[in-house]
Amino acid sequence: AWIGLGSNLDDPVAQLERAFIALGELPDTRLYLRSSLYRNPPMGPQDQPDFVNAVAGLLTRLPVRELLDALQAVERAAGRDRAQSQRWGPRPLDLDILCFGQLRIEEPGLHLPHPGIAERNFVLLPLLELAPGLQIPGLAPLLGLVARLGDGGLEPLE
Ligand code: AMP
Repeated sequence: AWIGLGSNLDDPVAQLERAFIALGELPDTRLYLRSSLYRNPPMGPQDQPDFVNAVAGLLTRLPVRELLDALQAVERAAGRDRAQSQRWGPRPLDLDILCFGQLRIEEPGLHLPHPGIAERNFVLLPLLELAPGLQIPGLAPLLGLVARLGDGGLEPLE
C-alpha cells in the first residue's frame, strides 16, 4: 500500500516523523519505504499554514478496511477531530491510502486508487522518488503524470 501523509498544524515535521513510526508499528505491517518531506502551499482555503507532505510504502497483510481504520486511529491520536475539521482545512495529520496493490474500490468511505492523485504533485513527486516505475491502476504511468503536472513550487525540506 502507498500512503500519503500531510500536516499543517502543531509542528508538521514532528507530526510526520511520529506518523512514520506509527505506520511501522501497525499490526502485520512493515514500513518499507519513506520519501523525503516536502513543503507545499495549501489546497483550498489559503489562510492556513503551508503543508508538509510525504509518502510511505507499506508491506501489509491487513485487509484494506482494517488499514483505513488503523490510519484513522493514528490521525485521531495526533489530535485530529474529523467531525470538526473543515474540508481542505488545517489539520495536524492526514493519512490517505493512495493505492493498495491493484485494488479498485468505489464504496462509501473508501475510494481506491485515491481520487485526485493525478492532480496532486505533493503525492506524485514523493511517489516518484520511491517508485518511479509505478503504474497506479486506471492511471497513466507515474512519469507521464509528473511530466504533465510539473512541480508546482513543491520544495523538498532539508
Ligand atoms: P479527509 O478528511 O480528506 O482525510 O477524508 C477522509 C475521508 O475520506 C474518510 O472518511 C475516508 O472514509 C474517506 N476515504 C475514501 N477513500 C479513501 C482513501 N483511499 N484513503 C483514505 N480515506 C479515504
